[in-house]
Amino acid sequence: VVSLKGIDISYGPVAVVRNLDLEIKSGEFVVLVGPSGCGKSTTLRLIAGLEASQAGEIAIGGRTVNDLDPAKRDVAMVFQNYALFPHMSVADNISFGMRLRGEAPAKVAASVSEVARMVGLQDQLAKRPGALSGGQRQRVALARAIVRKPAVFLFDEPLSNLDAEFRAAMRSELMRLHKELGSTMIYVTHDQVEAMTMGDRIAVLAPLRQAGRSNLMQFGTPDEVYHRPTNLFVAKFIGSPP
Ligand code: ATP
Ligand code: MG
Repeated sequence: VVSLKGIDISYGPVAVVRNLDLEIKSGEFVVLVGPSGCGKSTTLRLIAGLEASQAGEIAIGGRTVNDLDPAKRDVAMVFQNYALFPHMSVADNISFGMRLRGEAPAKVAASVSEVARMVGLQDQLAKRPGALSGGQRQRVALARAIVRKPAVFLFDEPLSNLDAEFRAAMRSELMRLHKELGSTMIYVTHDQVEAMTMGDRIAVLAPLRQAGRSNLMQFGTPDEVYHRPTNLFVAKFIGSPP
C-alpha cells in the first residue's frame, strides 16, 4: 500500500537517504529502526508529504503522491511531542479536524465517543491537555489520528517521552489498535526491543556514512533480521551485545 522506489533525500550538500526502496503491504505493521541520524524521521515525513525527495517515486494505495498535498494523502502522523491545543478540551482536540470540515455536530460527537472508547479516554473528554498525564496526552494524539480514519498511520517515536511502565502499556495498546483497525502502520523508533516486539517486518536503516548503495540495510521479519542478518551492521544493531 505504501511504496518507495529509489528515494534520495539531501539537505543542501548533505545526503541523508540514498536509493531507498520499501514496499509496505496493506495492513502491515512496519517498524523503521536505526541509530540517531539515519533518516527515520526524514523518511516518515517524506511519506506524510512534509518533505520532498530529490529522486524517486512515492506511491500510497497505488497512486503516485510525489506532488500530492499532505492533506490529501490519506495518512495521519503521530509525533512524540503531541502538539495538542492547550486551550481546548480533549473532546475538542480530537474533533478539531472534523469541525474544521464542517461535519454535523451529532456525527462529531458520535465519532469522538467511539474513538475515546478505543483509546480509553471516555472519562477525560472534558479536561484540558494540561490536566492529563503524558500517557493520556499521547492517547489524545492517537485519538486525533484515528478519528481521521487514514489508510496509513505514521508514528515518529510516539512513546519516547513516556516512562517504562506507560511505554509497555501503550505498546500493547497500539498493537491491539492495529488489530482492531486493520490499518497499515509505519512506526519509527531507535529502540531495538520495540522494533522486535512490534513489527510484522522491520526496516533497519544506517546513517549514510556507514551504509553502502542504500541506507536500507535489511527489510525483513523480526526472525529474519535477528537470525539471518545480511550484513554486519544489522547483526550488531539488532543482535544482543556480546
Ligand atoms: P533520531 O533518531 O535522532 O530522531 P533520525 O533517524 O530520525 O534520528 P533524521 O531526523 O531523519 O534522523 O535526520 C537525518 C539527518 O538529516 C540528520 O543528520 C539530521 O541532522 C539531518 N536533517 C534532518 N532534518 C534536517 C533539516 N531540516 N535540515 C538539515 N538537515 C537535516
Ligand atoms: Mg527522528
